[in-house]
Amino acid sequence: MLEVSNVSKKYGKVVANSDINFQVNDGEITVLLGPNGAGKSTIIKCICGLLRFEGKISIDGIQNRELKAKAKIGYVPEMPVLYDMLTVEEHLEFIARGYNLNDWKEYGEELLKRFELDDKRTKFGKELSKGMQQKVSICCALLPKPKVIIFDEPLVGLDPHAIKSLRETIMELKSQGVSMVISTHMIDSVEDYWDVAHIMMKGKIVATKYKEESENSNKSLEELFFSITEGKGE
Ligand code: ADP
Ligand code: MG
Repeated sequence: MLEVSNVSKKYGKVVANSDINFQVNDGEITVLLGPNGAGKSTIIKCICGLLRFEGKISIDGIQNRELKAKAKIGYVPEMPVLYDMLTVEEHLEFIARGYNLNDWKEYGEELLKRFELDDKRTKFGKELSKGMQQKVSICCALLPKPKVIIFDEPLVGLDPHAIKSLRETIMELKSQGVSMVISTHMIDSVEDYWDVAHIMMKGKIVATKYKEESENSNKSLEELFFSITEGKGE
């Protein structure tokens, strides 16, 4: 379980996150929706321990700055960052060594096949297209079987087959009890699997919607999003 309590983050004078609170239970998918600049990537980087912030973030009760907590988090950044001179399979080995994984090869193979990278295994990071890099980045995040996975705009640059594979993977991880946070501005891409949606604007969560309640409502997530972000209110 991921808990984000009273998190605020400033970059100099820019308030990027202001008193953010939410939690993601085991097996739950939380989506962060919001226009560019709303603060989605900032809260994600705070969760992943990449930024200093005010407030508290914990994973299964452990402060996110601790190594034990970091070992439980998988992060797929907005822009994939690969090593130019490592091949696709070396990226997986690098992660496996860093996380001290045993018996990772079979799962690594499965991930490479699933994301159609098995014929690219000997290609260097710098030889891959943006979409392929994104897929390697996803495989690296999943390899240690984290309990919490954070995807920042994961669909950008992916082809339809990769989008389908990612969707299937997300559903499978959910059934295994993995908690996920997905930031996106492509609302229809998550319409069929989100549990909780937080709409962010100007560094704040301005609305929260639960799947069950939306099933009884006549407003789709997309309609709610536009009614809020275009200032028409609820
Ligand atoms: P989103 O991911 O929702 O598009 P971000 O979290 O990237 O939003 O950005 C939130 C705000 O913080 C924006 O105003 C952005 O310009 C600002 N910001 C983001 N990163 C930095 C940075 N490294 N330095 C200064 N300002 C930043
Ligand atoms: Mg962003």
